Amino acid sequence: MNKIMKQNDFLPGLLGSFAKPAAENPTVAIMKAAFRHHGLHYRYINCEVGPENLEAAVSGAKAMGWRGFNCSIPNKVEVIKYLDELGESARIIGAVNTVVIEKDGKTRGENTDGKGFVKAISEVTSIRGKKLVVFGAGGASRAICVEMALAGASEITVLNIDETGGKVLVDLLNQNTPAKASFILWNHPYDIPTDTDIVINATSVGLYPHVEQRLNINIDSLEPHMVVADCIPNPAYTHFVKDAIDKGCKYVLPGMNMLVNQAVIAVKYWTGEDVDAGVMKDELKRVLGL
Ligand code: NDP
Repeated sequence: MNKIMKQNDFLPGLLGSFAKPAAENPTVAIMKAAFRHHGLHYRYINCEVGPENLEAAVSGAKAMGWRGFNCSIPNKVEVIKYLDELGESARIIGAVNTVVIEKDGKTRGENTDGKGFVKAISEVTSIRGKKLVVFGAGGASRAICVEMALAGASEITVLNIDETGGKVLVDLLNQNTPAKASFILWNHPYDIPTDTDIVINATSVGLYPHVEQRLNINIDSLEPHMVVADCIPNPAYTHFVKDAIDKGCKYVLPGMNMLVNQAVIAVKYWTGEDVDAGVMKDELKRVLGL
């Protein structure tokens, strides 16, 4: 599948993204930077496509010989019905963020969100045997919890405002992974238990433009031995991230780490190449003005 830039080859490998809204998604910028850095002859096209046009967009991508595409909100579940097969974790998670189109037009759905998160965490700590507290039970949380459980996390406590969504995720984890998962209805300021190893915000609380929003937690329960990670890529430094830094938490990972790592894994699926995460992160910081 490799396509290194050659002279007189005016046909790049085509990739892209189908999401709505699409304008604030910086993925195209980091993909472009990686392709330039590695001399990969690919183009990534950011398309605003919602569920109403998704089937046509998938057919169009296949007809034009695209190598694959990302799906983001609101298409991650919807796209499954237009695909030929799913990778193992995408099947368990029930959502797809990366589609690979084979040469014969066959489509396979993968989910690199959780894998990117695991990669980001693995850079600072081991996961095996760790106790997690995870805020939220939406798509990002499902991807993170499943992959962290498959990577060896031993206990996962999920907090969510909506009881049904939280319980569905906990049942899914207990039935499909070796981790012991439990649910807490999140209707009170939460004290993070002192034996927690990794604390994760997988809600949209604090996401641009609602940057002033705070998680309903007791900040003083964040302790220096905890690893803290946020999913939110914009703004880079949410209140949660800033509070964890102030509390002296050992490692604090903003959402851009997950964003960059899930993109690196997607490029690997599409091109077979290991692109430099540092190049992508530098470009992300540049385009976000950090
Ligand atoms: P979903 O809409 O699927 O889930 C949102 C979650 O946030 C739900 O659990 C929801 O709870 C919870 N939530 C929303 N508002 C509040 C609130 N005021 N208080 C408490 N909980 C709340 O979104 P996603 O899971 O797809 O995305 C979540 C976040 O992750 C977004 O910020 C997104 O940008 C980010 N993300 C980052 C990625 C990266 O690579 N860095 C990749 C994918 C996502 P309820 O169920 O009760 O409604």
